[in-house]
Amino acid sequence: MHILLVEDDPMLAAVIENGLGERGNSVVAASTVAAGRLRAMEKNCDIIILDIGLPDGSGFDLCRDLRAAGLDTPILMLTARESVQDRVHGLEVGADDYLTKPFAFSELVARVAALGRRRPQLAPAIVKVADLNVNLRTRFISRAGRDITLTAKEFALLEFFAGHVGEVVTRAQITAHVWDDNHDPFTNVLEVLIRRLRRKIDDGFDLKLIHTLRGAGYRFGA
Ligand code: CA
Repeated sequence: MHILLVEDDPMLAAVIENGLGERGNSVVAASTVAAGRLRAMEKNCDIIILDIGLPDGSGFDLCRDLRAAGLDTPILMLTARESVQDRVHGLEVGADDYLTKPFAFSELVARVAALGRRRPQLAPAIVKVADLNVNLRTRFISRAGRDITLTAKEFALLEFFAGHVGEVVTRAQITAHVWDDNHDPFTNVLEVLIRRLRRKIDDGFDLKLIHTLRGAGYRFGA
């Protein structure tokens, strides 16, 4: 995989670069927001690993800018603090996953693999729910003829919903699909992701597709 690493700590950057490189990836490193933005917008990387504290700004802001510019490359944020707020904030600005420093290298490798995992080609390619069209293969999504761009995690959530149209699904089922098994997201992290998906596919439409069932979970359908 082609990985863009935006990290200003030279020691940590070298460890990540060498470690991921040894595992067959090509890693391009940037140590500032400005350099990271330039590299990211070349749009030739499969995953972006993004530090929060950078010399010329914040990784949160860079993440938000990249999403605003329409970039949907999976983003893994490296947060220095063991703070729920940081994690939630990262997801709110469009990151797909996060890792708290210090981390075991094996965990970074697992997260990167999970974000870059190719999706199985067995499911039906197109799922239609009311006026929403989801192409699971090309990831082309539209509602009422309007194109919708999703991040990797938002797509994983919609993909799960698309496989369970009309069914009641629990938080645990969603979590197991959207995050890898070692991941134990806080309840509000899932809610943030649901809110982000709602904003993109339900906002502005009278007919809502994502329904919250108090105490039970969620139901996706018209
Ligand atoms: Ca830093």
